Amino acid sequence: MIMSQHVLIVEDEVKIASLLQDYLRQSGFQTDTLYDGSQVEKWLAGNTTDLILLDLMLPGKTGVEICKDVRKNSSLPVIMITAKVEEIDRLLGLELGADDYICKPFSPREVVARVKAVLRRTDITETLSDKGLVLDTNTYKATVNGQNLDLTAVEFQLLKVLSDQPGRIFSRSVLVDKIYNDGRVVSDRTIDSHIKKLRKKIADKLPDVELIHSLYAVGYKFEWI
Ligand code: CA
Repeated sequence: MIMSQHVLIVEDEVKIASLLQDYLRQSGFQTDTLYDGSQVEKWLAGNTTDLILLDLMLPGKTGVEICKDVRKNSSLPVIMITAKVEEIDRLLGLELGADDYICKPFSPREVVARVKAVLRRTDITETLSDKGLVLDTNTYKATVNGQNLDLTAVEFQLLKVLSDQPGRIFSRSVLVDKIYNDGRVVSDRTIDSHIKKLRKKIADKLPDVELIHSLYAVGYKFEWI
């Protein structure tokens, strides 16, 4: 028997909350809804959920604060809902560790699809090395099914940073900070160009899967699709 998964909806707009609730329930999820940010911590202390759909602007406590609190002691999947697409860039910069971002207005169907995608992703117990991708941090050598990808140091680090947290979206500026620790100024285009070469090298060895995905034109994420 498949246990139905639970989604906690945190959204103060009653209409949106009930719409999400209806669609998720129709798709077989159990749900609970909180309308005030300050209720989340207490709810999580007494209940369990598989994923939180978290609105950014809430009374009581903001989505940003809640996401930070959740990340302090768990890897519980969080999808953040924002009212502005520009907000996503700012949130990525804060490195909250949310698993995905959805911008209003959204179609409830899209939300359900994203919820399922995040749950599938976070449920994957198979490691990258099981799939044939091995990154040796001592030698900066990355291999796919035993074949060397011949990465440059920067390409290797990009792949390492992205693949260490599959599904997490990294903005270009966060990638720059993680890869160049000498404070040098590196343009977004430089990152794009390294990513392009990295993708090409991976595609040569793994033509049927896509590992590095670009999102909303604000960043990149690693996902084995
Ligand atoms: Ca709101």
